[in-house]
Amino acid sequence: MKKLIVILGGGESGVGAAILALKEGYEVFVSDGGTISDERKELLKSHNIEFEENLHSWDRIRKAVTIVKSPGIPDSAGIVTKLLKKKFDVISEIEFAYRFVGDAKIVAITGTNGKTTTSLLTHHLLKIAGYKVALGGNVGTSFARLVAEGGYDYYVVEVSSFQLDGIVEFKPDIAILLNITPDHLDRYDNKFENYIHSKFRIIENLTQEEAFIYCADSQPITEELNRRRAESCVFAMSASKHEKLGAYLEEDHLIFNYEFRDNDQHHKIPISEISLIGKHNMVNSMAAVLSAIHLNSPIDKILKGLKTFKNAPHRLEYVAEIDGVAYINDSKATNVDSVYYALDGIKQGIIWIAGGIDKGNDYQQLEELVEDKVKGLICLGRDNHRLIDFFSGKAGRVTEVDNVKNAIEVAYDWSSPGDVVLLSPACSSFDLFDNYEDRGDKFKRAVKKLSNATKMTKS
Ligand code: ADP
Repeated sequence: MKKLIVILGGGESGVGAAILALKEGYEVFVSDGGTISDERKELLKSHNIEFEENLHSWDRIRKAVTIVKSPGIPDSAGIVTKLLKKKFDVISEIEFAYRFVGDAKIVAITGTNGKTTTSLLTHHLLKIAGYKVALGGNVGTSFARLVAEGGYDYYVVEVSSFQLDGIVEFKPDIAILLNITPDHLDRYDNKFENYIHSKFRIIENLTQEEAFIYCADSQPITEELNRRRAESCVFAMSASKHEKLGAYLEEDHLIFNYEFRDNDQHHKIPISEISLIGKHNMVNSMAAVLSAIHLNSPIDKILKGLKTFKNAPHRLEYVAEIDGVAYINDSKATNVDSVYYALDGIKQGIIWIAGGIDKGNDYQQLEELVEDKVKGLICLGRDNHRLIDFFSGKAGRVTEVDNVKNAIEVAYDWSSPGDVVLLSPACSSFDLFDNYEDRGDKFKRAVKKLSNATKMTKS
């Protein structure tokens, strides 16, 4: 008789795990306490996978040999508490997928910010090197679904802390930890140390055969590393100080000092050869390059990849130049930390468009940069009083608008050749937009429209 695997949650990772479990010869049952999208239901039906929604049938679930829990479901959910109490084997989808990876190599990427950018870039570099490489996890296709597809020698997997919470043996060949700042604390008893511990689980099974790449500029990471030992070989990255083993930023270059067994490589890459912009993206680039070197990609292919990479939209995305002014869309910057890196990375005068739903932001961190570089602040939100209170007198001119079109008109008016107009909101978007993508798309459309209009008047 086939053994039963129960998957809790019918989202991307649940459906991926279900397809993989089926392929591996298990009986599979998907149970979702909420609703499952029509598209996913069709997919399950097309594989003859049984599922239920809006309930968890205990009589069925209790027969499982293993339970795969989707990352969106907290341990405090009734069904999970019950399963854990009864000592069921409850694992995360990445743990489940890992068990069927075989000889393929895994690069796992985590951190509070920069996961998607670094995952996409790492994937791009390996692809340019001609590797059979898949990209997934927290971005796009689930890890389990990729493993079920098969045919890959390498997996670049973005992993969240929620996925790391349910691992047992998960052991990537390369583990990358970009940064840790307080986030998702509601899932961690409001204790930052619990969140840090969760992120560090990415290295818990590593041995000397594997590599750990981390950012030494992140204090929570270095403090935690003082408390524990990484068993693997370790490479540090920094945008501010020299690193003997790993990579760092020195003026206009990235310096790489890589040594592992008999592979000894030193490279100096001008940042002008890298398509990404901003200091934080230099750290992301270091992580991707160190991974590619570790996986024996030739340096000429890495250089080509760095130059040709195009990031996902809404992350410091160049949109257009109008009358000598560059327009940049950083709509994904929904917290102060991300905005810090955006402002820090731009050398020119900035017309800054910010605002939305303020999640109790502390703007102190931005004060100096804003005083230095921002010529005008355009608040794009329903309630802008916190931005206005903090930045009045510090950000040159300050005004309020309630739609993107007006924001662009004011920005056009205020800017002079050589300036940058930057949408980097520091806030979430739900007051005026569906989500950050909608906000970024509307910004891009308005900029393109203005660009066409100015071209027309000139011709
Ligand atoms: P994630 O997948 O972790 O949310 P993204 O690559 O989508 O990360 O970037 C989210 C936001 O964080 C963007 O505004 C981006 O500019 C910023 N960001 C990217 N990399 C870093 C980093 N290494 N440190 C801090 N902020 C970053």
